[in-house]
Amino acid sequence: MKEKREDNCVFCRIVRGELPATVVFEDEATLAFMDIGSVNPGHMLVAAKPHVANLQGMEAELAGAMFRSAARAAKAIEAVFRPAGISVYQANGAAAGQTVFHAHIHVLPRW
Ligand code: AMP
Ligand code: ZN
Repeated sequence: MKEKREDNCVFCRIVRGELPATVVFEDEATLAFMDIGSVNPGHMLVAAKPHVANLQGMEAELAGAMFRSAARAAKAIEAVFRPAGISVYQANGAAAGQTVFHAHIHVLPRW
């Protein structure tokens, strides 16, 4: 059976605990951690635990789990950072601005 992971994928390595990350929470399908290149304080990423490159690669259940975790991240950011607003974005493909080709959602506080 083909494993849903990639040995050299940076987010797979974070999911496996091989690379350090400031993990905020996790559930069965997702891992939320702070973006190392944060645009603003509190910038969080929600990554899929299985290796999928983009939104098109997600089954419905994983897509739902991702957005559920994005909502949880937004609530945590709201409580801690009290931003004026929160942006959620998710890039699919280099042309869309994706640089890490393991699906993730940005949850970004705004002032
Ligand atoms: P994207 O352009 O949507 O693919 O965004 C990738 C994001 O991953 C960027 O905002 C990076 O700052 C972030 N990033 C890359 N490597 C790491 C890492 N090791 N830990 C946390 N965030 C990372
Ligand atoms: Zn991966």
